[in-house]
Amino acid sequence: MTRFEKKIWLSSPTMHGEEIKFVQQAYDTNWMSTVGENIDEIERLICEMVGCKYAVALSSGTSALHLAVKLAGVKQGDNVFCSDLTFSATVNPVIYEKANPIFIDSEYDTWNMDPVVLEEAFKIYPDTKAVIVVNLYGTPAKLDEISDICKKYGAILIEDAAESLGATYKGKQTGSFGTYNAISFNGNKIITGSSGGMLLTDDLEAANKARKWSTQSREDAPWYQHEEIGYNYRMSNVIAGVIRGQIPYLEEHIAKKKAIYERYKDGFKDLPITMNPYDEYNMEPNFWLSCMLIDKEAMCKQIRTDNKAFYDSEPGKSCPTEILETLANCNVEGRPIWKPMHMQPLFKNNLLIFREGTMRSVTDDYSESKISVSADIFNRGLCLPSDIKMTPDEQDKIIEIVKSCFK
Ligand SMILES: *Cc1c(COP(=O)(O)O)cnc(C)c1O
Repeated sequence: MTRFEKKIWLSSPTMHGEEIKFVQQAYDTNWMSTVGENIDEIERLICEMVGCKYAVALSSGTSALHLAVKLAGVKQGDNVFCSDLTFSATVNPVIYEKANPIFIDSEYDTWNMDPVVLEEAFKIYPDTKAVIVVNLYGTPAKLDEISDICKKYGAILIEDAAESLGATYKGKQTGSFGTYNAISFNGNKIITGSSGGMLLTDDLEAANKARKWSTQSREDAPWYQHEEIGYNYRMSNVIAGVIRGQIPYLEEHIAKKKAIYERYKDGFKDLPITMNPYDEYNMEPNFWLSCMLIDKEAMCKQIRTDNKAFYDSEPGKSCPTEILETLANCNVEGRPIWKPMHMQPLFKNNLLIFREGTMRSVTDDYSESKISVSADIFNRGLCLPSDIKMTPDEQDKIIEIVKSCFK
C-alpha cells in the first residue's frame, strides 16, 4: 500500500505570504504587545464578515468561552447545558466558574445538540442559566430551534463557533446566533494565527467588560486599581498580524475544504460509509473536517478502554480503530471523533440527557440499546485527513486505503 513520503496532516496551517508582512509591520513599528493596528483591523474585519457589532480579540477560543460564561452570569453551582459531543474546551470554562455542566445528546442530522433533548432538559431543569452549543466540525447546529428554546426558558445562548468560522445557517453566519459567541484561530482551525480567539457580541457593555477582564481588570485610576478578578487574555499584535494575513483567504480555504468533502463522498459511494451530514437547504458548513460514519452492519468488533483500542478484522467490515491504524501506517493523520463529554472520567459526576432519559456519565452501565447518539457516533465515526494542501491524487490514494480496510 502507498506509504506517503511526506506526512498528510489532518488539518495543518496554510500560509499565503501576507501574514509575514503584517508581522513584520508590527515588528518595524514596535507594536509587539497586545495593542496595535493588526488587532484593530482584525476586530473590524471579523465584525464585518460575521455581521456582529463587537469583536474582542483574545489569546484563545477557550478564553473567549470563559469570558462568555462569565458574561452570561453563570455562578458557582449553576446548571449549564452543553453539547455532549465536543472538544473539552467547550466545557472547561463552566468548570472554571465552578458551575455544573449538564450534557445534551446529539442528533443524527448534524451531529450537534438535539433540540428535542434540549427542550426535555429545560423541563427537568427550568432554571438553567445558559446553553453552550457547538457547531461541530464546521456544520451549524439547528440554531433557530435551539435559540427559540433558549428564549422560551429565558436562558442565554453561547455559541461555540470555534470550528465553524465562515459557515452559515439560513444565510446568517455562525458566531452571530448567541448573545455571546466564541471563535478560534488555533493552529488547525480553518484560518489561524498560530493561536488566538475572539468573543463576538452585539452588546457594547458586554464587549467593554470582556476587554477589561481580559486585561487584568484595571479600573480607571492613576495607579493599578482593581475591584474585580482579571485575566491575562488579550491577543498579541504579532499573532493578529498572522490572522490579518489569513482573513482574505477564508473563502478559498472553505472552497478547498468543500472540494475535499465532496471527493470523499464520491469516493465512498460504494462503501458502507456516510459522511458527516448537514441540511443542504438551510446550511452551508465550512467543511473544516471531513468525517465518516461506518454503517452499523459494517462494523467489525472494536473495543475501547480508557487508553487503548482493539479490534478484530473481518472481511467486508471495518471500524475506526482499524482505519486510523491503517492510515497511520501510511503516514496519514486521521483522528477519532471527539470522545463525548459524558464518557470522560473528568465529568463522571455530570449528567447526560438523551432521548432515552438521563444517565450519570461513565458510572452508569448502559446496554447497547440505550447508547447515546454521541457515543454511537464516537464508536462508528472518524475524522479524515482534511488538509487543504493535500492534492486530489493524494486524496484518491487515501480513499483507496480506506477501501482496503473493508476488503
Ligand atoms: C478549538 C476549539 C476550541 C478552543 O479554541 P482554542 O483557541 O484552541 O482555545 C473550543 N471549542 C471547540 C469545539 C474547538 O474545536
